[in-house]
Amino acid sequence: MESALIAWLRERLPPHPLLRLGIGDDAAVLDVAGVDLCVLTVDALTDHVDFELSKDDPRRVGRKALAVNLSDLAAMAARPVAGVIALVLPKQNGLELAQGLYEGMLPLAEQYHLALAGGDTNSWDGPLVVSITLLGEVTQRGPLRRKGAKPGDRILVTDSFGGSILGRHFDFQPRIEEALLLHNRYKLHAGIDVSDGLSIDLARLAKESGCGAVLQIDSIPISDEARRLSKECADGRSPLDHALGDGEDFELILAVPADEAKRILADQPLDVPITDIGEFIAEPGLWQREAEGPRRPLVPQGWEHEFE
Ligand SMILES: [Mg+2]
Repeated sequence: MESALIAWLRERLPPHPLLRLGIGDDAAVLDVAGVDLCVLTVDALTDHVDFELSKDDPRRVGRKALAVNLSDLAAMAARPVAGVIALVLPKQNGLELAQGLYEGMLPLAEQYHLALAGGDTNSWDGPLVVSITLLGEVTQRGPLRRKGAKPGDRILVTDSFGGSILGRHFDFQPRIEEALLLHNRYKLHAGIDVSDGLSIDLARLAKESGCGAVLQIDSIPISDEARRLSKECADGRSPLDHALGDGEDFELILAVPADEAKRILADQPLDVPITDIGEFIAEPGLWQREAEGPRRPLVPQGWEHEFE
Protein backbone atom coordinates (compact mmCIF):
# COMPACT_ATOMS: atom_id res chain seq x y z
CA MET A 1 0.00 0.00 0.00
CA GLU A 2 2.78 2.41 0.95
CA SER A 3 4.64 1.89 -2.33
CA ALA A 4 1.42 2.52 -4.27
CA LEU A 5 0.92 5.77 -2.34
CA ILE A 6 4.51 6.85 -2.99
CA ALA A 7 4.11 6.14 -6.70
CA TRP A 8 0.88 8.14 -6.77
CA LEU A 9 2.46 11.02 -4.84
CA ARG A 10 5.47 11.18 -7.14
CA GLU A 11 3.10 11.88 -9.99
CA ARG A 12 1.01 14.38 -8.09
CA LEU A 13 3.55 16.48 -6.20
CA PRO A 14 4.71 19.45 -8.27
CA PRO A 15 8.44 20.32 -8.35
CA HIS A 16 9.47 23.06 -5.94
CA PRO A 17 12.49 25.38 -6.38
CA LEU A 18 13.77 24.71 -2.83
CA LEU A 19 13.44 20.95 -3.08
CA ARG A 20 16.69 19.32 -4.26
CA LEU A 21 15.42 15.85 -3.38
CA GLY A 22 11.80 15.07 -2.61
CA ILE A 23 9.94 11.82 -2.21
CA GLY A 24 11.88 8.59 -2.87
CA ASP A 25 14.97 8.83 -0.66
CA ASP A 26 15.28 8.26 3.07
CA ALA A 27 15.05 11.97 3.68
CA ALA A 28 14.36 15.08 1.65
CA VAL A 29 17.03 17.63 0.72
CA LEU A 30 16.16 21.31 0.88
CA ASP A 31 18.07 24.31 -0.38
CA VAL A 32 17.42 27.04 2.17
CA ALA A 33 20.42 29.20 1.30
CA GLY A 34 19.69 32.80 2.19
CA VAL A 35 17.26 31.92 4.95
CA ASP A 36 18.47 33.31 8.27
CA LEU A 37 16.08 31.96 10.87
CA CYS A 38 13.57 29.16 10.56
CA VAL A 39 10.56 28.31 12.66
CA LEU A 40 9.51 24.72 13.08
CA THR A 41 6.05 23.58 14.10
CA VAL A 42 4.13 20.32 14.37
CA ASP A 43 0.46 19.52 14.89
CA ALA A 44 -1.29 16.16 15.16
CA LEU A 45 -4.97 15.74 14.29
CA THR A 46 -6.93 12.65 15.28
CA ASP A 47 -10.24 11.17 14.14
CA HIS A 48 -13.06 11.74 16.68
CA VAL A 49 -11.13 14.66 18.19
CA ASP A 50 -10.47 17.11 15.36
CA PHE A 51 -12.81 15.64 12.73
CA GLU A 52 -15.24 12.77 12.20
CA LEU A 53 -14.18 10.61 9.30
CA SER A 54 -17.57 8.87 9.32
CA LYS A 55 -19.09 12.09 7.98
CA ASP A 56 -16.27 14.44 6.96
CA ASP A 57 -14.73 14.33 3.48
CA PRO A 58 -11.04 13.24 3.71
CA ARG A 59 -10.13 16.14 1.41
CA ARG A 60 -11.50 18.61 3.96
CA VAL A 61 -9.68 16.74 6.74
CA GLY A 62 -6.38 16.89 4.84
CA ARG A 63 -6.85 20.57 4.09
CA LYS A 64 -7.58 21.30 7.74
CA ALA A 65 -4.53 19.35 8.95
CA LEU A 66 -2.29 21.51 6.80
CA ALA A 67 -4.19 24.75 7.45
CA VAL A 68 -3.89 24.52 11.26
CA ASN A 69 -0.13 24.18 10.88
CA LEU A 70 0.00 27.12 8.49
CA SER A 71 -1.95 29.12 11.06
CA ASP A 72 0.85 28.50 13.58
CA LEU A 73 3.35 29.87 11.05
CA ALA A 74 1.05 32.89 10.61
CA ALA A 75 1.04 33.39 14.39
CA MET A 76 4.84 33.62 14.27
CA ALA A 77 4.71 35.85 11.17
CA ALA A 78 6.72 33.27 9.24
CA ARG A 79 6.60 32.45 5.54
CA PRO A 80 5.87 28.77 4.75
CA VAL A 81 8.87 26.89 3.32
CA ALA A 82 8.48 23.12 3.51
CA GLY A 83 6.52 20.39 5.24
CA VAL A 84 6.61 16.67 5.99
CA ILE A 85 3.49 14.62 6.60
CA ALA A 86 3.01 11.55 8.78
CA LEU A 87 -0.16 9.52 8.30
CA VAL A 88 -1.29 6.71 10.58
CA LEU A 89 -4.10 5.15 8.60
CA PRO A 90 -6.79 2.70 9.58
CA LYS A 91 -6.19 -0.56 7.65
CA GLN A 92 -9.47 -0.41 5.75
CA ASN A 93 -9.43 1.77 2.60
CA GLY A 94 -6.09 3.21 3.70
CA LEU A 95 -4.79 4.08 0.23
CA GLU A 96 -8.00 5.75 -0.87
CA LEU A 97 -8.11 7.71 2.38
CA ALA A 98 -4.47 8.82 2.05
CA GLN A 99 -5.11 10.02 -1.50
CA GLY A 100 -8.15 11.97 -0.35
CA LEU A 101 -6.15 13.63 2.43
CA TYR A 102 -3.39 14.63 0.01
CA GLU A 103 -5.93 15.94 -2.52
CA GLY A 104 -7.12 18.29 0.20
CA MET A 105 -3.60 19.41 1.08
CA LEU A 106 -2.09 19.93 -2.36
CA PRO A 107 -4.01 23.06 -3.44
CA LEU A 108 -3.31 24.75 -0.10
CA ALA A 109 0.39 23.84 -0.29
CA GLU A 110 0.53 25.34 -3.75
CA GLN A 111 -1.31 28.48 -2.66
CA TYR A 112 1.33 29.15 0.00
CA HIS A 113 4.33 27.95 -2.09
CA LEU A 114 4.98 25.22 0.44
CA ALA A 115 7.30 22.39 -0.63
CA LEU A 116 5.79 19.07 0.41
CA ALA A 117 9.09 17.32 1.00
CA GLY A 118 8.05 13.87 2.12
CA GLY A 119 6.59 11.93 4.98
CA ASP A 120 5.80 8.57 6.42
CA THR A 121 2.78 6.28 6.35
CA ASN A 122 1.76 3.59 8.85
CA SER A 123 -1.41 1.60 9.20
CA TRP A 124 -3.05 0.09 12.24
CA ASP A 125 -6.40 -0.91 13.73
CA GLY A 126 -6.94 2.48 15.33
CA PRO A 127 -8.35 5.82 14.17
CA LEU A 128 -6.71 8.06 11.57
CA VAL A 129 -3.93 10.33 12.83
CA VAL A 130 -2.47 13.07 10.63
CA SER A 131 0.69 14.77 11.85
CA ILE A 132 2.26 17.57 9.86
CA THR A 133 5.57 19.31 10.51
CA LEU A 134 6.22 22.63 8.81
CA LEU A 135 9.32 24.72 8.34
CA GLY A 136 8.84 28.45 7.98
CA GLU A 137 11.09 31.39 7.24
CA VAL A 138 11.24 34.30 9.65
CA THR A 139 11.34 37.72 7.98
CA GLN A 140 13.88 40.49 8.76
CA ARG A 141 11.55 41.67 11.52
CA GLY A 142 12.16 38.44 13.44
CA PRO A 143 9.53 36.06 14.77
CA LEU A 144 6.32 37.41 16.26
CA ARG A 145 5.98 35.90 19.71
CA ARG A 146 3.39 35.49 22.46
CA LYS A 147 5.78 37.33 24.73
CA GLY A 148 6.13 41.06 24.21
CA ALA A 149 2.72 42.62 24.95
CA LYS A 150 3.05 45.69 27.20
CA PRO A 151 0.55 47.44 29.47
CA GLY A 152 -1.24 50.04 27.35
CA ASP A 153 -1.00 47.98 24.14
CA ARG A 154 -4.26 47.54 22.27
CA ILE A 155 -5.70 44.08 21.55
CA LEU A 156 -6.37 43.86 17.81
CA VAL A 157 -8.01 40.88 16.09
CA THR A 158 -8.68 39.84 12.50
CA ASP A 159 -12.23 39.12 11.29
CA SER A 160 -14.79 37.52 13.66
CA PHE A 161 -15.23 34.74 16.20
CA GLY A 162 -17.42 31.78 17.17
CA GLY A 163 -19.40 29.02 15.52
CA SER A 164 -16.56 27.63 13.40
CA ILE A 165 -17.99 24.13 14.02
CA LEU A 166 -20.64 24.97 11.40
CA GLY A 167 -17.94 24.60 8.73
CA ARG A 168 -15.29 27.30 9.07
CA HIS A 169 -13.01 25.00 11.12
CA PHE A 170 -12.43 23.18 7.81
CA ASP A 171 -12.52 26.02 5.31
CA PHE A 172 -10.73 28.87 7.11
CA GLN A 173 -7.86 30.73 5.46
CA PRO A 174 -4.70 30.69 7.58
CA ARG A 175 -3.75 34.35 8.09
CA ILE A 176 -0.26 34.02 6.57
CA GLU A 177 -0.40 36.97 4.17
CA GLU A 178 -2.19 39.09 6.76
CA ALA A 179 0.41 38.39 9.45
CA LEU A 180 3.32 39.04 7.09
CA LEU A 181 1.84 42.32 5.87
CA LEU A 182 1.04 43.61 9.36
CA HIS A 183 4.39 42.51 10.82
CA ASN A 184 6.26 44.11 7.94
CA ARG A 185 4.34 47.40 7.81
CA TYR A 186 3.59 48.09 11.49
CA LYS A 187 5.17 47.65 14.89
CA LEU A 188 3.60 44.62 16.56
CA HIS A 189 4.58 43.59 20.08
CA ALA A 190 3.11 40.06 20.23
CA GLY A 191 0.74 37.69 18.47
CA ILE A 192 -1.05 34.36 18.65
CA ASP A 193 -3.53 32.48 16.47
CA VAL A 194 -6.86 31.47 17.96
CA SER A 195 -6.93 27.69 17.88
CA ASP A 196 -8.61 26.95 21.21
CA GLY A 197 -10.77 30.01 21.89
CA LEU A 198 -10.50 33.81 21.79
CA SER A 199 -10.50 34.20 25.57
CA ILE A 200 -8.21 31.26 26.40
CA ASP A 201 -5.67 32.15 23.71
CA LEU A 202 -5.71 35.83 24.71
CA ALA A 203 -5.09 34.74 28.32
CA ARG A 204 -2.13 32.63 27.11
CA LEU A 205 -0.60 35.57 25.26
CA ALA A 206 -1.07 37.87 28.24
CA LYS A 207 0.44 35.33 30.64
CA GLU A 208 3.46 34.75 28.39
CA SER A 209 3.93 38.53 28.24
CA GLY A 210 3.70 38.87 32.02
CA CYS A 211 0.69 41.17 31.91
CA GLY A 212 -3.12 41.08 31.96
CA ALA A 213 -5.80 41.81 29.37
CA VAL A 214 -9.15 43.62 29.50
CA LEU A 215 -11.69 42.67 26.84
CA GLN A 216 -14.11 45.39 25.79
CA ILE A 217 -17.05 43.01 25.54
CA ASP A 218 -19.27 45.17 23.30
CA SER A 219 -16.44 45.45 20.73
CA ILE A 220 -15.89 41.75 20.10
CA PRO A 221 -16.67 40.87 16.47
CA ILE A 222 -19.17 38.01 16.66
CA SER A 223 -19.52 35.83 13.56
CA ASP A 224 -22.85 35.10 11.85
CA GLU A 225 -22.25 31.42 12.63
CA ALA A 226 -21.98 32.19 16.36
CA ARG A 227 -25.40 33.88 16.19
CA ARG A 228 -26.85 30.99 14.23
CA LEU A 229 -25.43 28.39 16.61
CA SER A 230 -26.80 30.25 19.62
CA LYS A 231 -30.25 30.32 18.03
CA GLU A 232 -30.20 26.67 16.94
CA CYS A 233 -28.80 25.12 20.15
CA ALA A 234 -30.93 25.32 23.23
CA ASP A 235 -27.95 25.15 25.57
CA GLY A 236 -28.28 28.75 26.69
CA ARG A 237 -24.96 29.90 25.23
CA SER A 238 -25.17 33.39 23.78
CA PRO A 239 -23.46 34.44 20.53
CA LEU A 240 -20.87 36.17 22.75
CA ASP A 241 -20.21 32.93 24.66
CA HIS A 242 -19.54 31.22 21.34
CA ALA A 243 -17.22 34.03 20.22
CA LEU A 244 -15.25 33.89 23.48
CA GLY A 245 -14.86 30.14 23.77
CA ASP A 246 -15.63 28.13 20.64
CA GLY A 247 -12.12 27.86 19.22
CA GLU A 248 -10.80 26.91 15.79
CA ASP A 249 -11.38 30.43 14.47
CA PHE A 250 -7.73 30.61 13.41
CA GLU A 251 -7.83 34.40 13.48
CA LEU A 252 -4.96 36.48 14.86
CA ILE A 253 -4.79 38.26 18.20
CA LEU A 254 -2.16 41.00 18.19
CA ALA A 255 -0.67 43.23 20.86
CA VAL A 256 -0.03 46.62 19.28
CA PRO A 257 1.22 49.92 20.77
CA ALA A 258 -1.73 52.33 21.03
CA ASP A 259 -0.58 54.86 18.41
CA GLU A 260 0.31 52.08 15.97
CA ALA A 261 -3.09 50.45 16.56
CA LYS A 262 -4.74 53.74 15.60
CA ARG A 263 -2.86 53.69 12.28
CA ILE A 264 -3.80 50.08 11.57
CA LEU A 265 -7.47 50.72 12.34
CA ALA A 266 -7.51 53.81 10.12
CA ASP A 267 -5.66 52.02 7.28
CA GLN A 268 -7.57 48.71 7.51
CA PRO A 269 -4.88 47.22 5.24
CA LEU A 270 -6.33 43.68 5.01
CA ASP A 271 -9.19 42.08 3.07
CA VAL A 272 -10.73 41.18 6.43
CA PRO A 273 -11.62 43.74 9.11
CA ILE A 274 -9.30 44.43 12.04
CA THR A 275 -11.01 45.29 15.31
CA ASP A 276 -9.80 46.76 18.61
CA ILE A 277 -11.26 44.61 21.39
CA GLY A 278 -9.50 45.95 24.46
CA GLU A 279 -6.16 46.60 26.09
CA PHE A 280 -3.31 44.96 27.93
CA ILE A 281 -2.77 46.05 31.52
CA ALA A 282 -0.05 45.57 34.12
CA GLU A 283 -2.24 43.56 36.48
CA PRO A 284 -2.20 39.86 35.50
CA GLY A 285 -5.36 37.97 34.58
CA LEU A 286 -8.20 38.20 32.10
CA TRP A 287 -10.86 40.86 32.55
CA GLN A 288 -14.01 42.11 30.85
CA ARG A 289 -15.64 45.51 30.64
CA GLU A 290 -18.93 46.60 29.09
CA ALA A 291 -19.15 50.13 27.70
CA GLU A 292 -17.85 52.41 30.47
CA GLY A 293 -18.71 49.90 33.18
CA PRO A 294 -16.36 48.51 35.83
CA ARG A 295 -13.71 45.90 35.14
CA ARG A 296 -14.73 42.37 36.13
CA PRO A 297 -12.78 39.07 36.01
CA LEU A 298 -13.43 36.83 33.00
CA VAL A 299 -12.85 33.08 33.17
CA PRO A 300 -11.03 32.01 29.99
CA GLN A 301 -13.17 29.64 27.92
CA GLY A 302 -11.91 27.26 25.29
CA TRP A 303 -10.58 23.88 24.34
CA GLU A 304 -7.88 22.15 26.34
CA HIS A 305 -6.63 18.60 25.77
CA GLU A 306 -7.09 16.61 28.95
CA PHE A 307 -4.52 14.19 30.36
CA GLU A 308 -5.19 11.60 33.03
MG1 LIG B 1 -1.09 28.37 17.67
